[in-house]
Amino acid sequence: MNRWHQMDSGEVLEALRTSDQGLSSDSATILLKQFGPNQLEEKQKKTMIMMFLDQFKDFMILVLIAAAIISGVIGELSDTIAIVVIVALNAVIGFVQEFRAEKALAALKKMAAPTANVFRDGVLASIPSEQVVPGDIVLLEAGAVVPADLRLLEVHQLKVEEAALTGESVPVEKEVATLPDDMPIADRKNMAFKGTIASYGRGKGVVVTTGMRTELGRIATMLQEEEEVKTPLQKRLARFSKNLAVIVLIICAIVFGVGVLRGEPVLLMFLTAISLAVAAIPEALPAVVTISLALGARKLVKQNALIRKLPAVETLGSVTFICSDKTGTLTQNKMRVEEIYAGNSVMKTEELRTNVPEGYDCNNPTEITFCNLFLGMAISNDAVAGGDGTVMGDPTETALYTFARERGFAKEEMVKSFPRVSEIPFDSERKCMTTFHEITGEWQGFQSKSDTMRVISFTKGAAEVLLARSGSVLTSDGLQPVDHEEINSVNERMASDGLRVLCIAMRHWPELPDNLSPEYVEKELTILGLIAMIDPPREEVKDAVTLCKTAGITPVMITGDHPVTARAIARQLGIVGDGMKAIINGRDLEAMPLEEFEEKVEHLRVYARVAPEQKLKIVKALQDKNQFVAMTGDGVNDAPALKRADIGIAMGITGTDVSKEASHMVLLDDNFATIVRAVKEGRRIFDNIRKFIQYTMTSNSGEIWTIFLAPFLGLPIPLLPIHILWINLVTDGLPGLALAAESAEKGIMNRPPRQPQESIFAGGLGVRIFLVGLLMGFVCIFTQAWSIRTGDVHWQTMVFTVLCLSQMGNVLALRSESESLFKQGMLSNKPLFGAFLLTLVLQLATIYIPVLNKVFKTHPLSFWELMIAFGLSSIVFFAMETEKLIRRMRNKKAMAALS
Ligand code: ATP
Repeated sequence: MNRWHQMDSGEVLEALRTSDQGLSSDSATILLKQFGPNQLEEKQKKTMIMMFLDQFKDFMILVLIAAAIISGVIGELSDTIAIVVIVALNAVIGFVQEFRAEKALAALKKMAAPTANVFRDGVLASIPSEQVVPGDIVLLEAGAVVPADLRLLEVHQLKVEEAALTGESVPVEKEVATLPDDMPIADRKNMAFKGTIASYGRGKGVVVTTGMRTELGRIATMLQEEEEVKTPLQKRLARFSKNLAVIVLIICAIVFGVGVLRGEPVLLMFLTAISLAVAAIPEALPAVVTISLALGARKLVKQNALIRKLPAVETLGSVTFICSDKTGTLTQNKMRVEEIYAGNSVMKTEELRTNVPEGYDCNNPTEITFCNLFLGMAISNDAVAGGDGTVMGDPTETALYTFARERGFAKEEMVKSFPRVSEIPFDSERKCMTTFHEITGEWQGFQSKSDTMRVISFTKGAAEVLLARSGSVLTSDGLQPVDHEEINSVNERMASDGLRVLCIAMRHWPELPDNLSPEYVEKELTILGLIAMIDPPREEVKDAVTLCKTAGITPVMITGDHPVTARAIARQLGIVGDGMKAIINGRDLEAMPLEEFEEKVEHLRVYARVAPEQKLKIVKALQDKNQFVAMTGDGVNDAPALKRADIGIAMGITGTDVSKEASHMVLLDDNFATIVRAVKEGRRIFDNIRKFIQYTMTSNSGEIWTIFLAPFLGLPIPLLPIHILWINLVTDGLPGLALAAESAEKGIMNRPPRQPQESIFAGGLGVRIFLVGLLMGFVCIFTQAWSIRTGDVHWQTMVFTVLCLSQMGNVLALRSESESLFKQGMLSNKPLFGAFLLTLVLQLATIYIPVLNKVFKTHPLSFWELMIAFGLSSIVFFAMETEKLIRRMRNKKAMAALS
């Protein structure tokens, strides 16, 4: 059926066997089975076998296997088998890691999947969009992605962006009237289509088709997988690996040439050279980065930060500015009315709490203002009572709803006498909303202005906005002219206590006006009063702000609230100091030329009364100043700024679908402190990636130096191909992976953010890799030369063991950049300690188990030989610890000089 738009809403509901109360959960379950999940088909995922085979895709590995087979056929087959087994073992390790990472990412993707607001069993519920079925009644709000194809039943200025479907970039204003003819999709104004975006207003519709049967499904028979984005580090590492590969291949060619000239067997030398190349070309580094980031993302989700784009994990550590919304992120978003101003007087907390009258006499002139104010609070309100007695909706509105209900003005009762007939929804640019209600005259306590006025409108919003549009104020003496000075000073005083102030005003109409534009309606208002609400700061935010500062990150508050309220809260949180002039309001920001703004932007800490669109200007200006910006947002208009920010952060609880889709990361608890925790985690993950790179590259360079230098010193090839492969592909791999579990360095939040463009080898990493590798090479060559000179026939087993153990020492010493292992303790990274023990056992097995002796061409070492091997291999460890000690002493001196 493709004619939903030509049927009236009753026919549609009947055809779908549903009602405007929605489906029951039981029938939804049956329909879900019948129609399948509401999703578009995705491209086939890589199977596990394909993922495993991919591990052998590397050209050098294929050459190695081919060479091993050839040499096996000519010589000993056991060599070939051993090499193939080692390569396979390595592939298994790689596969397991990739599989874990893939699973972690799939789980994250599932968590980030959009939800839909539907009525089930008569109650509004938020369910995964995938579970939406035909017949469901869906509620659409600005910022929501339409979950399925809907026939609209109710619209309140609903505008939908349909570019994804029709290419039309201007949002379409929707209607509910039945359309007479068959018409193209773009003209079906009483329909909303899957994948399009509700950009303004509200609406309700019934689901007519889901999944691949929707209009989007028809055109997207096969949805293209989201393009895999390479992180900056991955791109740099890929380039680096390519360059390094060339150098390694040249070295391998030299090793091969020199070996052959010395009279070594050609096939052995060929195999040695290729093994060295396989082991030393760090072409797996970008993949390792992906895995670390994916596993890091999994960890971040446990801390309430859901990563939507993997590169964000890597770049978190570079953030220099965190621009955060106030309401709900810095504050608890648990609003409570603290004070009201009505009829020329202020009522404060205690009075309000202790003095709740049974009811109001709305015929009494002294109480009429309260009556109108509370009525407005109750009915000009989108909060609704949930099934279990809780109140659902925006916290500002639930606070007003509850306050009015406590005073006998329950919304559900009031709307019976004052049914809502139309509305102009809230938008954060206008900073107010208006609702229209018919006056049925059923409520005795309320007197209409006159019998001819059959409609009343309530407008509520920012005090100064309404004040500018009002002509009178309702007091016990009737309507009076507005005393701007008085109301402004009450507003300022309330705001300076950190309270959020809303104004409520009303206007009478003979009937619902035809022109429902804000400019026409929201003027000549009668002020009823001011309502001041408290929204306490989140307790943990103050510490998080302090932590930001020590970490070289500037926290900035962006809010739609009044500058005075904003400043008071910013002061409480430590975002601005006393007397700091780092505050600007939206109007001044708008008027300021870009150049002047850029000059100031790094010093501003609070942006008040800003519209979401202005966030983009802030992000751009900070980026022009080479700052690395994290920006939060929740609304539909925040999306451009979130996209543009280096890290766009959406709110998990209050955020719209659109903001989530534009973001890099979603805060599951909407909490500022979570951003700071994520930054810390991002720094840790990046540190550990650096440690992994340091570890693999020192190990590789140690081997290369050993094999490369030996012939020049007149020594035979120190290691057999199988030794090289064993060390690199097996014993190196395990501790390397366990480095990802290393906890954060002490003082990780005491150092400035990492420059995003900074080389991965910055801060002496490159030099360390070179020097430690060289030292490792020298130790091995010394072992070889000394063993040969003393007539030890086990020299090769000695070199093999010393190299393997040196790398164990290397991994233990590089666990921390500055702290000594003795202070850290072996058990502070249990996976690494486990990998260390396992590697040790495996290495000893290759020496002491007779079958493996044959495979690895090793000999059991005597007790003293083993001790000497341990002693020699600890040189690398102690050298690295000494270097850390020197660094610690230098840092201490520098700190002392600074203080
Ligand atoms: P933040 O940007 O930190 O989230 P905010 O929630 O105050 O702050 P907006 O939602 O854009 O920002 O609100 C801007 C202003 O609009 C508020 O300060 C208030 O005066 C007014 N306002 C907020 N919510 C409502 C509402 N539900 N009805 C009427 N006016 C509102």
